Amino acid sequence: MSPLLLFDLDNTLVNRNEAFQSWAERFLADRSLPPGDLGWFMTLDCGGYLDRRVLLRAAADRYGLSQRLEPLLADYRDTVTALIRCPTAHLDALREARAAGWTLGIVSNGATDQQRAKIERTGLAELVDGWIISEEVDCAKPDPRIFTLAAGRCGIDPGIDWTAEAWMVGDHAPADIAGAAVAGIRSVWLAHGRAWPETGYHPTLTAAGLPEAVSRVLASPTASPVASASASPPTTATEATAPATPVPAFARVLSPAAVAAAPVAVTVPAPVAVPVAAARDRPGHPCRHGGVQRTTVPG
Ligand SMILES: [Mg+2]
Repeated sequence: MSPLLLFDLDNTLVNRNEAFQSWAERFLADRSLPPGDLGWFMTLDCGGYLDRRVLLRAAADRYGLSQRLEPLLADYRDTVTALIRCPTAHLDALREARAAGWTLGIVSNGATDQQRAKIERTGLAELVDGWIISEEVDCAKPDPRIFTLAAGRCGIDPGIDWTAEAWMVGDHAPADIAGAAVAGIRSVWLAHGRAWPETGYHPTLTAAGLPEAVSRVLASPTASPVASASASPPTTATEATAPATPVPAFARVLSPAAVAAAPVAVTVPAPVAVPVAAARDRPGHPCRHGGVQRTTVPG
C-alpha cells in the first residue's frame, strides 16, 4: 500500500479567502456601497464557516436589498467558484508527492456541486486519486468516518490498517486537525501566520504553507516509529509523533461514541515506495482520474 496524503480544500489547496474577498469587493462596487464595508464581510464570513444563506441574508438586510435570496446565493457560488485558484506552487507540491509514490486525496466540508467545481476547474482533479465532500455523504470533518470514506475513494482497501501511513493537511484546527487525531492519522496544520489556537490537542507538525507541509510530510516518514501518543506540541519536522490522544475538548464537536472509538496510539513505519499513480490506475478503481464515486447525495 502506498502512503496516503489527504488535504483539506479551502484555504489549504485553494485560495478560498482571497476569492471571497474579491466577491465581496465586487458586491460592494456593483451596488455603489462603501468599499470600507469589506471588513464587515470578512468578519461575518468566518473563513467560510458561516452558512452562506445567513451571510447573504445579513447583507440583504444591511443594505435593504430587495433581491431574493436564491438568486443571490446562486450568483455568489458561481462568482466565488470562478475566482478560485490553486497556486502553481501547490500544484507542483502535489506532483512532487505523486512522484514520490504517495496516494493523494481531498476531504472537504461543503456543498457538493461547488466543491467539485473548484476541484475540477483548478486542475486538482488530475492530480489526486479521489475526493470526498461532506454534503454528498452527510458526514463532515471532524467525524472520523469521513477520513475512512476518503481513503476508500482513493482506492485504499478498507480491510487493512491504512491509518499508520496516512497524513491529513489542513488549515482549520477543529475540523482538520481534531478530525485527523480522532481518525488516528498524523496531521499538518497550515498556520498562515496564526498561532495554534487549541490547548487540548495539537497537530503532528505545523507549516507556514502548503508546499512546506508537503515537503515535511515527504521527509518525515524516515523518523522512527512512535509507540505512544504525545500531548506536547511538536515544533519541527524531526519531532513528528503520533496524533495527540483525543481529549475532552473533542467532546464539543464529536459524539461520545466517536471519541471512545478513537485509537490512542499509532505506530508509523516508513512508507513503501510504489510506482506513481499505482492506486489510481488499478483496474476497477472507483476514483480513476479523480472521478467521484457518488454515494448518498442529500437533496
Ligand atoms: Mg480549510
